[in-house]
Amino acid sequence: MKNPTVSADLVLGRDNSAITSFAGAAVHRDIIAPLLALQADAAAAGFDLRVISGYRGFERQRAIWNAKARGERAVLDSGGCALDISQLSSTALVHAILRWSALPGASRHHWGCDIDVYDGAAVAADYAVQLTPGEVADDGVFGAMHQWLDRQFATGRGHGFFRPYDVDRGGIAPERWHLSYAPLAVRCELVHSVDLLAEALAAESDLALQDTVLAELETIYSRYVAVPNLCYPAEYATELRGGKVI
Ligand SMILES: [Zn+2]
Repeated sequence: MKNPTVSADLVLGRDNSAITSFAGAAVHRDIIAPLLALQADAAAAGFDLRVISGYRGFERQRAIWNAKARGERAVLDSGGCALDISQLSSTALVHAILRWSALPGASRHHWGCDIDVYDGAAVAADYAVQLTPGEVADDGVFGAMHQWLDRQFATGRGHGFFRPYDVDRGGIAPERWHLSYAPLAVRCELVHSVDLLAEALAAESDLALQDTVLAELETIYSRYVAVPNLCYPAEYATELRGGKVI
C-alpha cells in the first residue's frame, strides 16, 4: 500500500503542492488512478461519475465561514431552509453553520482525497448541480448512481472510496454525494488533531465567531470534524485504531 507523506499544512488546507487539476476539479494526485478506476466501473454500469468539487483550501473555507457568520450567505437548517441568524446566539450560530459547512482548517476537502460527485449521464449538459438531499435520494436524479455506489462499497469494489457522511450522527448533515479515498484519508486523519486546529484558528486575525469557536472546539471537533472509524472500510479502520479514538 502507498504511504503518502502528509504534512500538518496539507491537512489544514495550506499546502496544495500535491493538488492537481482533474476534469475541471482539483484533487490530490494520489487519488487519480483509483478515481479513474471507479469512473470506468461506473461507465460500464451506465453512469458518468463526475467530480463537481474536490480540493478547497483554508482561505476559501475561511471566506465561506465568514460570509455565513456575517449574514452574507444563507445559513440553512437541517431541512435546507434559510435561518434568521439575528435570532441565534453565537453558540447556536456556530452549530448551525457547522451543520453544512466546515471550519477553515477542518474541511476534508482540504485533503484533496475527498470529492463531491454526481452522474453526468442523468442530467442535461446545462443542468446546475446543487448537491441537495433530494438530488441524491433513491428517487432523486442521481439516486440510481448512488444506489450503484452503495452496492460497490458494500462488496469491496469501491477502489478505496467510501462515504464519511453516510448517515446523520447529529453533527454534519448526511452528504451522500461526498466520497473519500480511504488510503490517503487515513494518513490525514492521523495528522489532524484538535490541538493542531486550535493553534491554526487561534492565530487567525479575521475569523468570525473566533472566541466562540475556540471555547467550544473540543465539542465541535468530536461532533463535526472527527469521522468515526466505523465509517471507513474495515481494513483502514484498523489502521486508525490508536491514532484516533472513536
Ligand atoms: Zn463534500
